[in-house]
Amino acid sequence: MAVNEKLRTKCCIVGGGPAGVMLGYLLAREGIAVTVLEKHRDFFRDFRGDTVHPSTLQVLHELGILADFLKVPHQQIAQAGAKIGDLTVQVADFRRLPTRCKFIALMPQWDFLAFLSDQGKRYSGFDLRMSYKATELLHDGRRVTGVRASTPEGLVEITADLVIGCDGRHSTIRGAAGFEVIEKGVPIDVLWFHISRHSNDPAQVLGNVNYGKALILINRGDYYQAGLIIPKGSFDAIKQQGLERFRSDLVKIAPFLGDRVNELQDWEAIKLLSVQINRLKRWHRPGLLCIGDAAHAMSPAGGVGINYAIQDAVATANLLSPALRDGNVSERLLAQVQRRRELPTRIVQQVQAFAHRGLAYVFLHPGEATAPTPFRVIIQLPGIKHVIGRFIGMGPRPEHVRNPVTPRPRSEGMLQAAVMLGGACGAVVLGARMLRKNRPRTIPRSMRNRTERPGVH
Ligand SMILES: Cc1cc2nc3c(=O)[nH]c(=O)nc-3n(C[C@H](O)[C@H](O)[C@H](O)COP(=O)(O)OP(=O)(O)OC[C@H]3O[C@@H](n4cnc5c(N)ncnc54)[C@H](O)[C@@H]3O)c2cc1C
Repeated sequence: MAVNEKLRTKCCIVGGGPAGVMLGYLLAREGIAVTVLEKHRDFFRDFRGDTVHPSTLQVLHELGILADFLKVPHQQIAQAGAKIGDLTVQVADFRRLPTRCKFIALMPQWDFLAFLSDQGKRYSGFDLRMSYKATELLHDGRRVTGVRASTPEGLVEITADLVIGCDGRHSTIRGAAGFEVIEKGVPIDVLWFHISRHSNDPAQVLGNVNYGKALILINRGDYYQAGLIIPKGSFDAIKQQGLERFRSDLVKIAPFLGDRVNELQDWEAIKLLSVQINRLKRWHRPGLLCIGDAAHAMSPAGGVGINYAIQDAVATANLLSPALRDGNVSERLLAQVQRRRELPTRIVQQVQAFAHRGLAYVFLHPGEATAPTPFRVIIQLPGIKHVIGRFIGMGPRPEHVRNPVTPRPRSEGMLQAAVMLGGACGAVVLGARMLRKNRPRTIPRSMRNRTERPGVH
């Protein structure tokens, strides 16, 4: 097909998700001409996570746009709890974080993206092109020089000093670049659906574990975004057992839902998320970088994926803006982005893999649940809820905006951060040991985490 139009920009970002739109906004704010390509015509799509964590809210504060963000309808959670059998416990507490906002904001992702793109549009260099689907990379020898995109008006070629793949876990860009993907085995999938919520329902309880199942219920005002965690690959078997059985299982785990489960009238209302954890061995080559889920797909455990995508965007803008302005982005600089963001990503993926092992353990106990001893011990440790709150809410190495409008916190308490990280690692190691000791010998091989190995996405 003939090329209809040719465009030139400094930086071409493929993908208008959290990583791409935030990065486009940050680069435009630095005076850099940036074109963001998004294959959909709007941001309104299936549920893809709603959690805007304190680390991301801190970035919005530093950008001077937090007050406007908080005017967009959302819910706030300052503590998160779980119910295991008849034991209800607080698991994470965000109220002592050294951040401007000491809560997670729950906002539909399309509202968050619309908000960020509106901020980007205040800068003349920000060019967001909806319904532009990148199909291949353009090269000049070894160097990537741009992308070809299909659009409603035909093929368009966009040349750029740098292409950044922010096109998510099914990334076209990383495939076209031939990047090697390292997969981590995952024993779970998630079924997402809506159930209406009553004002007198239990507050702040996110996880419900009983009868060999785990149900996440995220308070979205008048409804729950519900997620049933299931053994990987078991959705077809669940469907065969029928919708009636599915609904009665939900009521068994969370009896207060009662008749409301009848709102689920067909399988169309229930969406499967095939959970993945993976990362690229190398995130870059000359003229090209991948960040966000395109560089490292995250599990929904902890609801951190959006926030890691945002942190990647901030680090990328901080490290690359001066060179992009000068038209002089070396591969050494791209490698610095990977070096900066790979360690926090790997730490969090490791903790997510550990959480998956806990869930595989749940699947093996179909009777009435009692919280395992390791969990009871760990959750009683003094300060542990704040450690977990910090790990989830900020994560290792939170990023800060270059040239902030409002000053970043003078000190996040490096000592406090180190103690918290040490505490989190200690709890994980202790939990892993105790879990291994308590694990029945019959865990099916398919439910165990396989060791990391190269794979395809
Ligand atoms: C069902 C579900 C629930 C989740 N729950 C949570 C949660 O609660 N909290 C959380 O933090 N994370 C959650 N996540 C993960 C989170 O959505 C991702 O980690 C995060 O969105 C990654 O951001 P990203 O910008 O890197 O990629 P994405 O959000 O995947 O964005 C990629 C964008 O690129 C576009 N695109 C793809 N290919 C092309 C192409 N060829 N050309 C142009 N555009 C393209 C896509 O349309 C998309 O808009 C969930 C994910 C799913 C699927």
